[in-house]
Amino acid sequence: MSDRGILVVVSGFSGAGKGTLMNALLDKYPNYALSVSVTTRQPREGEKEGIHYFYRTKEEFEEYIANDRLIEYAQYVKHYYGTPKKYVEEQLASGKDVILEIEVQGALKVKEKMPETLLLFVTPPSADELKKRLEGRGTEQPEIIQSRLEQASREAKYMPDYDYILINDVLDDCVCQMHNLIQSQHNKIEENQAFIGQIQSELKVFLKGE
Ligand code: 5GP
Repeated sequence: MSDRGILVVVSGFSGAGKGTLMNALLDKYPNYALSVSVTTRQPREGEKEGIHYFYRTKEEFEEYIANDRLIEYAQYVKHYYGTPKKYVEEQLASGKDVILEIEVQGALKVKEKMPETLLLFVTPPSADELKKRLEGRGTEQPEIIQSRLEQASREAKYMPDYDYILINDVLDDCVCQMHNLIQSQHNKIEENQAFIGQIQSELKVFLKGE
């Protein structure tokens, strides 16, 4: 098997429960490395520098771009978001599976640059359920809920570009499915070329007169 980790990108509608899914996955499987993005948006209450994001000014963010320090970046609702290259590369090289929780534009850019990336799209079981979950938070204005639903409708166009859909209905089931999908990626032929080459050459010894 390849010693390198698998790069996993998770996207999904706002309200699909990505954050809860990531927390539950990392609680159960602490070996995954979750990448921390750089953003120009302000921290929300309870968010911490270096844990939820690296909060930077627009000028600082532009320096990250100029110095080629990001794997990808995108603008989302007036702010920049980007994935730091160094951390992801170090973790992959050390054999850790790395998870990026990013929006669709960035996800597709990563896949273009690194086609072996596993793209997962998290969705509730139905549009109605998404609406219920957004309303159930009780913290958002109806206009914000409406704009999230519109955004979801736009993002849904890109669902066919992902490798797998994860339906977040029962959280534990979704965690298991996600873990199994990542683990089975390790068994893909492309990830095992070195092993295949080795066993093929070992087996040549048994060929008689061919
Ligand atoms: P929020 O502001 O709610 O934390 O994130 C807004 C959106 O930006 C979410 O869809 C989140 O997945 C996405 N996002 C977070 N970090 C990155 C990143 O590094 N790159 C890209 N392209 N999107 C990101």
